[in-house]
Amino acid sequence: MNVADSELVAGILSDAGYKKAESIDSADIIIFNSCTVRQHAEDRVLGRITAEATRKEQNTNILIGLIGCVAQRKGEELLNEIKSLDFVVGTDQYRHLPEIISSCMNSKEHLFADVQNNIENYENIYPVRNKGVNAFVTIMRGCNNFCSYCIVPYVRGRERSRDHKEILFEIEQAGNDGFKDITLLGQNVNSYNDGKYTFPELLKETARVSSIERLRFVTSHPKDISDEVIKVMAAEPKLCEHLHLPMQSGSDRILEKMNRKYTPQKYLNIIHKLRNAMPNIAITTDVMVGFPGETEDDFIQTYNLMKEIRFDYAFMFKYSPREGTAAAEYPDQIQEEIRLARLQKLIDQQERITYEKYQEQIGRRVQVYVEKTSKKSDKELSGRTRDNKIAVFPSDSKLIGTFVDIEIVDATSWTLKGKQIQHT
Ligand code: SAH
Ligand code: SF4
Repeated sequence: MNVADSELVAGILSDAGYKKAESIDSADIIIFNSCTVRQHAEDRVLGRITAEATRKEQNTNILIGLIGCVAQRKGEELLNEIKSLDFVVGTDQYRHLPEIISSCMNSKEHLFADVQNNIENYENIYPVRNKGVNAFVTIMRGCNNFCSYCIVPYVRGRERSRDHKEILFEIEQAGNDGFKDITLLGQNVNSYNDGKYTFPELLKETARVSSIERLRFVTSHPKDISDEVIKVMAAEPKLCEHLHLPMQSGSDRILEKMNRKYTPQKYLNIIHKLRNAMPNIAITTDVMVGFPGETEDDFIQTYNLMKEIRFDYAFMFKYSPREGTAAAEYPDQIQEEIRLARLQKLIDQQERITYEKYQEQIGRRVQVYVEKTSKKSDKELSGRTRDNKIAVFPSDSKLIGTFVDIEIVDATSWTLKGKQIQHT
């Protein structure tokens, strides 16, 4: 989401005449886009800003700004806390960035804009995308779910869907600009509704945009994913065999305290439906340990459900209390050592499963959308399979941006290794 928002801000600023610097060393204006979903993310961005303060001592003309969810959450107070910051702009105020930046330049004032209007959808702005072959397209902003641990509804405001015509136009353009693998973005894409199209309707239509080759979407909430979405995924050739479906916990009791509105059994039923409809589908997830009141037994239920499901990959987090959310006020917070130990146990199990799943791929033939030369060797190319795994294979860099069929000959826990199939 933040990558997409940074590209949006780059679009707003380039329309106002600004150019992206080659590197941070040559920049006149440095903007940090921040995440506050966990304390660690917030600490990191504030640390980075402090580290950049020396640049300002050497060159007083440099401006430093903070945007995104930390800016939204803390607003003006940050300008007092961090003296090197010139401006702080919240998630609904990016259209005002050009005026804010020129005021800061002209008057050396420190400015903030953090009014949340709950309607800004950034229509009519075309993002300046990072180089590459994959593009994110935001289809909705905000969230109404108020999972009890989550800060997102507070810093991103109420859920609103972009007009389907704008979305289709943006996808068509992105495809024409060479981004053939599109990911639709929203905190809860399954509740997309612009008054005309529901999510499965939008999916069907986007999957038929002629300028693109692959389509994906994040994030799906298990309470909202419908049979219709699964049907469209299975039927439309451009929709990839991958779904990210955050599970959060395997304990009924904890899911209820999280306000997630599904049970482990319902989650498992969705997994079965997905695998019945698409036998090769890769399923990834988000899981959290150490939520307030989580007992050893609750944790074991999460551990066991992950063992049963065998996700291709999982993002695993220890619960981080966020001020202002319901769960941060719960009295039964779990000790840090317990949270860490549970997290490590889950990571160890998932690493084994991911490694086995990648080994199972050996011998398969898959299509790779080539993104770049591999980090390890410029004689190897790297790209993504339809089921969102990284694959590398020896070949020539002129294949970047093309689709290549490979046979998988080896695998680590992170990467598939292949050889190109020569079509006759
Ligand atoms: N909208 C998405 C998730 C957004 S946040 C969804 O509903 O799934 C991404 C992930 O961060 C969440 O899935 C959750 O696992 C994790 N997360 C959110 N708040 C957290 C917190 N307070 N502590 C730890 N992890 C958290
Ligand atoms: Fe947060 Fe829940 Fe909304 Fe996802 S659905 S953004 S976890 S409140």
